[in-house]
Amino acid sequence: MRQRTSVFLSLAALSLLPAPAWAVWRERTEAIMGTRIYVEVWADDAGKGDAAIAAVMADMTRIDELMSHYKPESQLSQINARAAQEPVQVDPELFDLIKRSLYFSEITEGAFDITYASVGHLYNFPEHIHPTESQIKSALPAVNYRNLLLDPVHHTVRFEHQGMRIDLGGIGKGYAVDHGIDILKAKGIRHAVVTAGGDTRIIGDHMGRPWVVGIRHPDDKNKVVTRIPLVDSAMSTSGDYERYFDENGVRYHHIIDPNTGHSASKVRSATILGPTATETDGMSKTAFVLGPQKALEIINRLPQYDAVFVCPDGKVLYSNGLTPPDKAGAPTAPSGRVPR
Ligand code: ADP
Ligand code: MG
Repeated sequence: MRQRTSVFLSLAALSLLPAPAWAVWRERTEAIMGTRIYVEVWADDAGKGDAAIAAVMADMTRIDELMSHYKPESQLSQINARAAQEPVQVDPELFDLIKRSLYFSEITEGAFDITYASVGHLYNFPEHIHPTESQIKSALPAVNYRNLLLDPVHHTVRFEHQGMRIDLGGIGKGYAVDHGIDILKAKGIRHAVVTAGGDTRIIGDHMGRPWVVGIRHPDDKNKVVTRIPLVDSAMSTSGDYERYFDENGVRYHHIIDPNTGHSASKVRSATILGPTATETDGMSKTAFVLGPQKALEIINRLPQYDAVFVCPDGKVLYSNGLTPPDKAGAPTAPSGRVPR
């Protein structure tokens, strides 16, 4: 935000250095983790670029096998099966992400809570299934991240409440994106984008200019509400239009209020900008649960994050680090935002 101009200018200047004549952009899209994975890199040659992309895709599959709550053999599923009876030991990587999830519960005042799954598992959006009020009432007491006990010495996870479950659907994609970026950096890639569903991270710029990422209209995927220029940063968008069904005028969608067990509907979409995708993913559910004003208060207290919220009445709210596009009309990049 404010004092980032010089960082951006020097990055842009660097990227104007002549690239080797054979350097190329390579890209690929795959379906992993139940979502669309997109990787684009600027590489010295096509072979290196393709190999780097393949390494990221393979890593996404590995993370999915470790952390998916849909796969009965995953370590995450082992936790859900046994942690109410005994401490369950897991890989440090999974342990650390669960630990980070508790941190996001703390800073979002409980809006982000991976134990939401204790009631969340009663929903099935593709099949148009939602729990009854009495099912919610009996499942809800198990939703509380404070009842998730972590032993950092033995890397064990224990549930202090029967009926508890966790799922990492709200942070796992951001984590996988960051891990993919680490793999690309280790291979010497300096310009790339990695996207998993609503979570994106960018390294470098795009031919001396920022990457420009659009935020879609909640009711029309072909309309863009605003565009954000990004360099070396991450962005996550959560929306009530991603996994949902409508019944009797109610939208049942995949972001659940841990306090009520119902879909959280205080905004239509929330976009968070920040240094890493794990962070922006962990923060992008907040406004749905706490409402846009409270979420803006939190974001404005944390200088590393910015936010754009689309409210139920169509209003678009920006955090203090962003300047809204001119009122006159066509969506433009917030002019005050200096990409990271
Ligand atoms: P995407 O799956 O496209 O990355 P989001 O980042 O918006 O979408 O995350 C939505 C997912 O987060 C849900 O599908 C669910 O797995 C999980 N989730 C839903 N409500 C919560 C919550 N209150 N706290 C933590 N995770 C949640
Ligand atoms: Mg996400």
